[in-house]
Amino acid sequence: MKFKEYYLQFPEEELCIKILKTLREQKGLLCKKCGNQTHYWKKDKKKFECKRCKFRTSLKTGTVMENSNLPLRYWLATISYLNTTKKNISALNLQQEFGHKRYEPIWLMLKKIKSMPETDFLNIKNN
Ligand SMILES: [Zn+2]
Repeated sequence: MKFKEYYLQFPEEELCIKILKTLREQKGLLCKKCGNQTHYWKKDKKKFECKRCKFRTSLKTGTVMENSNLPLRYWLATISYLNTTKKNISALNLQQEFGHKRYEPIWLMLKKIKSMPETDFLNIKNN
């Protein structure tokens, strides 16, 4: 399968949000502030809210995507492609596939993805 086909599997941000939310729930979320494990999902804010202290955790917090403003689609498609095909892809290639203006953020994303352990999808950390 070509990269384009992986990218097409993540057509919208809404879908990516759902996928990421499910993954995080499966992994279990720990409140940074009070250590509580039960959360509400605030759909309007796209964040988890601690049931005990109301502290909010964004979907990207504690993942490889933290501090990135790139669309979730980029991340999920690239991670999925690299993990499944075990093939390489260059940042330049990705930039062209996404039709993204700037090279640097794509290069940084790829570097971060490659630095994480394959077995831990998204490299989610709880603290
Ligand atoms: Zn809390």
